[in-house]
Amino acid sequence: MNTQPRASHFINGAYVEDEAGVPLDVLNPATGAVIATLHEATPAIVDAALAAATVAQKAWARLMPVERARVLRRASDMIRDRNAELSRLETLDTGKPIQETEVADWPSGADALEYFAGLAPTVTGETVPLGADFAYSLREPLGVCVGIGAWNYPSQIACWKAAPALAMGNAMVFKPSEVTPLGALKLAEILMEAGAPAGLFNVVQGRGGVGAQLVTDARVAKVSLTGSVPTGRKVYAAAAEGIRHVTMELGGKSPLIVFGDADIDSAVGAAMLGNFYSAGQICSNGTRVFVHRSIKEAFLARLKTRAEAIIMGDPLDPATQMGPLVSPEQHAKVMAYVEQAKADGARLITGGGASGAFVQPTVFADVTDGMTLACEEVFGPVMAVLDFEDEDEVVARANATEFGLAAGVFTADLTRAHRVVAALQAGTCWINAYNLTPVESSFGGVKLSGVGRENGKAAIEHYTQLKSVYVGMGPVDAPY
Ligand code: NAD
Repeated sequence: MNTQPRASHFINGAYVEDEAGVPLDVLNPATGAVIATLHEATPAIVDAALAAATVAQKAWARLMPVERARVLRRASDMIRDRNAELSRLETLDTGKPIQETEVADWPSGADALEYFAGLAPTVTGETVPLGADFAYSLREPLGVCVGIGAWNYPSQIACWKAAPALAMGNAMVFKPSEVTPLGALKLAEILMEAGAPAGLFNVVQGRGGVGAQLVTDARVAKVSLTGSVPTGRKVYAAAAEGIRHVTMELGGKSPLIVFGDADIDSAVGAAMLGNFYSAGQICSNGTRVFVHRSIKEAFLARLKTRAEAIIMGDPLDPATQMGPLVSPEQHAKVMAYVEQAKADGARLITGGGASGAFVQPTVFADVTDGMTLACEEVFGPVMAVLDFEDEDEVVARANATEFGLAAGVFTADLTRAHRVVAALQAGTCWINAYNLTPVESSFGGVKLSGVGRENGKAAIEHYTQLKSVYVGMGPVDAPY
């Protein structure tokens, strides 16, 4: 498969290169081989992308919503038709197993394009009766939106941001993570082929500095970032300078609470999905698994057997269930957390080792609230199991974190499930499930995990603004 794109950037409907930009090697995480060499965007490239988006947005916003919707729906169909080829590229770019990318990455992006295509023509304002006068509201696009992506779901993130933005009449300049830059270029190609006007969706490559240039440009109305909390702080602050709209999808240290009456196999399965899928590199992972003392040892025994059966290997092999970490840097960071957990006295149930770019699925038990493993986002296949005794205690401990992205509860007791979810400080919760993020349901965090929502009808509000129009129907009554 040819993984070298025709050029680094996609601007105004075409691939563009500027070799003056700092070279950017793209590595296959499984082998370390260079699969593409790109260049970071120079200021001229950033300027060209924003200029193209500014022009394209004006014409796009004037289209009938059904016309915009048709383009997005076509793009969604094209993604599904090309899923095999796109998923292969995603696997080479991210290291995630093909059995995941074929069902969870581009397909979820296609869902977003289809969903927001469906919503686009339904978005309307309201009329406000005011006696003889009246007012009405218009839901208008924001203008040029900047999307900045993380490396863990590069193509899904590009689609989750582009779909609502474009559906609502905005244009976008997207900067993928420098670690996984290839998928977003494919989205740009597909949108063009689906009939999007040149300049509507542009991709520029680069590290944080390129993102920073985009965020502060006067032509930009909104910034949507998926990334870590430290980056979120910088981007939020930079966007504030121009009072820009923001969506911040940031990190987490989410609790997954398993009560004594839970179906143990389902809870173990969910804990594994919420810690080992994508080799644990998922923002909403339930990395603090609170297990009731009455079932703790049974839970751990089942978990150990199942974790040790996980098939690791070549991500392109359909049998592989877990791939490498995305980069040597991430690998080193995760292994440092493993060593720290051992030093802190956590009980290693399974894993803890590494080979090449791979880290074994790892479970620590007897983790206590103060340990680093219970406090910081690891972003690797490392599960922390903590014990608890009663409901109030576990809710308080689950909430005792600066993060608030997600949370899960496993119990057979219906009222307890809803009571606990109501008390949890998290933007996205699951009851007897974990990490399912259908586009129909909103996704996002509270506290340091972010502001704004992606997906669901709520995303519309984050890519539009209201205009209120007062209509005077009679003579103006002025006191002077
Ligand atoms: P990161 O914060 O290092 O980088 C994210 C993006 O921001 C990259 O494209 C990077 O180039 C860019 N960036 C860095 N500095 C910038 C600056 N000053 N101005 C503008 N852009 C800048 O994150 P990462 O390591 O790529 O991704 C992992 C993190 O993302 C984890 O913390 C994870 O929890 C989070 N994440 C959150 C969600 C969510 O929806 N909440 C989803 C996926 C990942």
